[in-house]
Amino acid sequence: MSLADDLYRETILDHYHNPRNRGEIEDASAKVEGVNPLCGDELTLYIQLDGDTVKDVKITAKGCSINTASGSMMSEAVVGQSIADVKKTVDAFKSMMMSKSGDVSLPEEMEELEALQGVRKYPVRIKCALLPWNTLLEGIITAQEEQKVKEVK
Ligand code: ZN
Repeated sequence: MSLADDLYRETILDHYHNPRNRGEIEDASAKVEGVNPLCGDELTLYIQLDGDTVKDVKITAKGCSINTASGSMMSEAVVGQSIADVKKTVDAFKSMMMSKSGDVSLPEEMEELEALQGVRKYPVRIKCALLPWNTLLEGIITAQEEQKVKEVK
């Protein structure tokens, strides 16, 4: 076990025990649900858009440690970003998790997310790590559609 592995484990456990951005948003732009039947992870994601900026993300979840930690880290990474930047962040995270060629370095502001790449060793758990991110993308699409509907009215 290397020092990096230890640090990664600590980061994941910290987010698992103290998940950030837990809860609900009352007047959310969208509320979407994500399920990973393979593991039994379930989460509800609330997203608040302010124009093209992700103003807030909150999650209520019943999931395993990887799923919970990944959701917590995702919420910290994307709140305050523009939708275009969020999509880049999600892409970078997904390509790290799907990488077949060993460890990937993420941009400095995403460094903490590297803690999750150890999950690649357990292919069935990769879905646990990706669920919050896929649910986030769905939330953005839903929120944008809601905005369009409002504009038409
Ligand atoms: Zn899981």
